[in-house]
Amino acid sequence: ARAELQRSEARYRLLAEHVADVIVTLDGEGRFLYVSPSAQALLGYAPDELAGRPLCDITPSAEAPRPGTVVELTVRCRDGTARWAEVNTAALPPGAGDGAVLVCVFRDISARKRLESDLKHLATTDGLTGAYNRRSFVEVCGQELRRTHRRARPTSLLLMDIDRFKRLNDRFGHAAGDEVLRQIVETGRRVLRSEDVVGRIGGDEFAVLLPATTLEQAGRVAEQLRTTYERLAVPARGGTATFTVSTGVAEWKPHLRTVEELLQRADCALYAAKNAGRNCVRTEEACGGRPQQDPPP
Ligand code: GH3
Ligand code: MG
Repeated sequence: ARAELQRSEARYRLLAEHVADVIVTLDGEGRFLYVSPSAQALLGYAPDELAGRPLCDITPSAEAPRPGTVVELTVRCRDGTARWAEVNTAALPPGAGDGAVLVCVFRDISARKRLESDLKHLATTDGLTGAYNRRSFVEVCGQELRRTHRRARPTSLLLMDIDRFKRLNDRFGHAAGDEVLRQIVETGRRVLRSEDVVGRIGGDEFAVLLPATTLEQAGRVAEQLRTTYERLAVPARGGTATFTVSTGVAEWKPHLRTVEELLQRADCALYAAKNAGRNCVRTEEACGGRPQQDPPP
């Protein structure tokens, strides 16, 4: 029976020592007792270095793992970097001998977390400019507007469309056109605040949500963007491309039910700007109650 016990022990030791997961036991105060050798690969710690130290030395929260739970948390490695781990915790039956009450299995899920975040980025942003795509823009604005509603502060929206962009593409090539689209966002961000939300919502159409901004203030921001873009020189084959934008401005009102309705108000103002000859800013006041018209070609 003793030989059988020894074989069984050896088997479990082999298991604990050869899986990539880090297996640890903790005492009643959350201090490491047993730490499997894989801690070296996952965390950069030799098992001896961790023994006796509290678990919260490697987990940011002092939160003790509860038996019967699976949680995802970040662990701090010896070199100060963070990794994502899935932690399975189980209670040990009393009488384990060395005072161990919990066993935790740490599995490295950093690669999955990175993939998840890459996928989210791909799904929510426009690959060319890095701005939100239309769907995410609407979603993020919806969240912002709900906050705005609670705090009763003004919020405005700009809708910008590049003037005669087809011509620019024709004259300077698609690559130059792409660079102009990138500049709209990159240069625009220098004028805007970090809390402003930028989305590419059509081929050459961009929207900006301006929290805590009245219609009048938003009109000034739009004007500042307009003059900034007007002065930009984009190097292109066969010369230097310049461009202008037309902008429609609308302010959020509680009677508007959705972000789409706010976009429609701004779109109407944008058409007014196109109609007025382009390279200018118009607010929704320019729309009145008139039906929307197509701008002259
Ligand atoms: P308007 O002043 O009336 O807006 O004239 P416009 O030429 O800009 O007209 P319109 O908005 O109809 O044309 C948009 C053009 O944008 C058409 C398309 O070739 C171009 N475009 C859309 N997406 C891209 C893109 O990703 N890259 C480039 N280079 N061009 C694009
Ligand atoms: Mg256009």
